Amino acid sequence: MNFTKTMIVAAVMVLATAGQSLAELKVVTTISDLARIAEAVGGEDVHVTALCPGPRDPHFLPAKPSLARKLANADLLCYNGLELEIGWLPLLLDKARNPRIKPGAPGDLDCSNSLEHILDVPGGNVDRGMGDIHALGNPHYTLDPGNAVLIARGMANRMGQLDSKNKAAYTARAQAFADAVSAKQPFWHDQLAEARTKSIILYHSHWNYFTHWQELKVVGEIENRPGITPSPRHVQSIIDKGRDLEDVMIIAAQWDHQEVAEEVAERIGTALAVLPGYSGAQKGTENYFDFIDRLCSRVAEAAARIETVPVKE
Ligand SMILES: [Zn+2]
Repeated sequence: MNFTKTMIVAAVMVLATAGQSLAELKVVTTISDLARIAEAVGGEDVHVTALCPGPRDPHFLPAKPSLARKLANADLLCYNGLELEIGWLPLLLDKARNPRIKPGAPGDLDCSNSLEHILDVPGGNVDRGMGDIHALGNPHYTLDPGNAVLIARGMANRMGQLDSKNKAAYTARAQAFADAVSAKQPFWHDQLAEARTKSIILYHSHWNYFTHWQELKVVGEIENRPGITPSPRHVQSIIDKGRDLEDVMIIAAQWDHQEVAEEVAERIGTALAVLPGYSGAQKGTENYFDFIDRLCSRVAEAAARIETVPVKE
């Protein structure tokens, strides 16, 4: 190799390294809540894309080629796990052919591994043949801000491994996120004081981490099996149960069967809170903190108007 050629090779290598150090880490998340947490932790050092738009139910997302293309360029994939994305993420990963994020690779981050507790882990055999979802336990853990803090710390760890020069910044931002959650906790807790005295019927067990976090009393679900359209007989039994209870209210996500949720609320004669399922599912909830604010304020508002709703026979 002559001198000039050596210089060119060296210059190209320097440029390549410089280019790498300037590049943001390309992070793809499945659900919007994980995208908001990744943005909080990654700040200016990452570029974050969510595969499932806020208004879509992530249990049932079509595996479009455009989503596979997003995965093809990712350095880090942050997903919910606990089979929330089982209907579409494996298909997309197959199509994306990206070794950086394949299972077990450094860019593969199952955020459920950061959790300390998983709710509703089924005992005994799970009959997926009946279409049951939540076979590994309840996957909707981002609805508890305490879990969001654990996820943020897990992301900071992994981002720091993939991009070591910014490790301290990732750790610091995860701490800032944790501090912001701690600062809001008393406000969220006080807001739900009245709701804590009521009984709650859920449409889907989407809200179990939220109700567990806020110590709300859940007495039943409109779905008799998670993810399955409820039978008329089960709906009737929930209505009967609700009528027997003094103070009961209904919680549904905006992507649940609204007519069923409304019928149950009307026939019990009580309030229905229709909540955004994840960040950005309703307008004004794009930010994670605004999303949690909305959940708390809507539940508080519904709890306050239970008595004003007439019973429809
Ligand atoms: Zn679910």
